[in-house]
Amino acid sequence: MTDQTAHSIWEAVLGDLQLQVPRPSFETWLKGTSGLSLSKERFVVSTPSAFVAEMLEQRMYSLINQTIERTLGTKVELSFKVLSPDGPTMGEANERSHTGKVLNSHDRNISDSSPARLNPKYVFGKFIVGKSNDLAHAASQAVGEGPGTTYNPLFIYSGVGLGKTHLLHAIGHELRSKGISPIYATAEEFTNEYISAIREGKAEEFRSRYRSAQALLLDDVQFIIGKEQTQEGFFHTFNALHMAGRQIVITSDRPAGALSLLEDRVRSRLAGGLVVDIQPPDLETRLAILRTKAEEIGMAVPQEVLQYLAERVHSNIRELEGGLNRLNAYAQLSDRAVTMDLVKGAIADILHSARPRRVSDQQVLDAVCNYFTIDENTLKGRRRDKPTALARQIAMYLMREEANMPLTAIGRFLGGKDHTTVMHACQRIGDQIAIDSHIRREVHNLREALLAPH
Ligand code: ADP
Ligand code: MG
Repeated sequence: MTDQTAHSIWEAVLGDLQLQVPRPSFETWLKGTSGLSLSKERFVVSTPSAFVAEMLEQRMYSLINQTIERTLGTKVELSFKVLSPDGPTMGEANERSHTGKVLNSHDRNISDSSPARLNPKYVFGKFIVGKSNDLAHAASQAVGEGPGTTYNPLFIYSGVGLGKTHLLHAIGHELRSKGISPIYATAEEFTNEYISAIREGKAEEFRSRYRSAQALLLDDVQFIIGKEQTQEGFFHTFNALHMAGRQIVITSDRPAGALSLLEDRVRSRLAGGLVVDIQPPDLETRLAILRTKAEEIGMAVPQEVLQYLAERVHSNIRELEGGLNRLNAYAQLSDRAVTMDLVKGAIADILHSARPRRVSDQQVLDAVCNYFTIDENTLKGRRRDKPTALARQIAMYLMREEANMPLTAIGRFLGGKDHTTVMHACQRIGDQIAIDSHIRREVHNLREALLAPH
């Protein structure tokens, strides 16, 4: 049924995959595919040949499946059906189902995949501007129009799912339309590439490639924190580009001042440009976003339904989109129109899937240590200086709230602390969240990082 839904969902999935898969692989394997049909159990994707179907199954099945899950918010079984490019289906015999093969991690090489890795949907024209993001938007536009001349570097930060990557890509598109080719990379890719360049004795190539960039767009720079060697590499690249007047745009999920481990010299240059943040969107903006996205996927949704959804999903825009996609799928699958009744019946599903999973104690610990750049032993230890104590208390709070752990188990997990200590920490952080916007933001960011699909 519902070919249109399958089609638009697969388009969204492809947009996402394009960012995850090296360009040559994307072009070869994914480009000619399309969404055929979607039912409760199964999502069928068409491929132009049996060979492509086989490759996708063997090499990319779990990646694709995860991406679908993230887009749709539910589990479905993925299968491929061979359709010759302009002919009819070659028959049921060609429909394949997954056989449980494990994905091989494929080489990532961003050098030749940079341009394609700009998501075509992330353009300024599709960015809804509201009070929460207008500064970041204006600064990004200024940089797109006059790279290297206005704000350099431009530094954008916010919690997850609030539009950093979207703006960064929009700048990239704008630059490319002016004939300037930026290098776009996530800090994770930058790191991987840097490390393997060094390992393979190709450090010089790495350097000259980055240093000849006409502009550098680096996403999620927080990933580099604490990786000393990469920080060093980043600093030199940054410095060379900055001296040459090339535009640099950096995003992060935490404020510049909190990039505690980026060396001072980098930090002072970061502060020399412009730092803008994006706040969670207000109701009005959420409504505008929902309305636009609904139109985009050709979904007729009454105003009151949009309002209802906007009031209930407020943490971030990715979840807002996810909620709408799920609602769409739900309506299609149950063959009903999108009405208040339908939404009220499905709201638990819609909201529930937006919060994908409970997290484990270790995940909380990793996230907190990573966020505050504290090592695990210190956090589990006895140190009581202010930053360590705060990080520890936040870890306790999140283990309680997000991992649902008993107080005693939390105490045990964190190096044998007494359960009353844990209780006190949970109460204290709970109180602080109510009165201290700084702590509220830290906890919000951590929670988002924990619950975001990876
Ligand atoms: P971040 O990088 O901050 O985690 P993204 O840029 O990936 O967030 O945004 C998450 C999703 O929300 C993307 O699909 C993006 O297109 C969408 N989005 C974010 N902000 C806006 C906006 N202001 N208008 C329209 N869509 C937005
Ligand atoms: Mg991002």
